[in-house]
Amino acid sequence: MADCLFCKIAEGTIPSTKVYEDENVLAFRDIEPQAPEHIIIIPKNHIASANEITAENSAVIAKIYEVAAKLAKELGFADKGYRIVNNCGEDGGQTVGHIHFHLLAGRNLQWPPG
Ligand code: 5GP
Ligand code: ZN
Repeated sequence: MADCLFCKIAEGTIPSTKVYEDENVLAFRDIEPQAPEHIIIIPKNHIASANEITAENSAVIAKIYEVAAKLAKELGFADKGYRIVNNCGEDGGQTVGHIHFHLLAGRNLQWPPG
């Protein structure tokens, strides 16, 4: 989609530090990490937010969780623990209008979030 930051990262027209890529999913390091490990996982196809998940496109969301589990093992924080976060809409704190999942690890994460 034109003028979508994460579509451009998925296409490679904006560079990113990739940690995983396949036909449908891309994972890359967050530019402003909030934890020692902070990875963004996205579907390559544009889905605006969690509001737009349907029976037709939800398979890629399952794949994103599969990729998160794989990365947690590969990067060595699976046993210690981590958090997967999706911010949706204004009150959810979503700032990029292409659905993405934050994979956060490497420190004791607090609850509840602010
Ligand atoms: P949100 O606030 O929408 O849940 O998360 C957006 C995330 O994207 C933020 O954590 C922000 O640091 C990250 N981000 C914004 N622009 C870029 C960018 O150009 N490159 C990378 N790698 N991350 C970005
Ligand atoms: Zn997009």
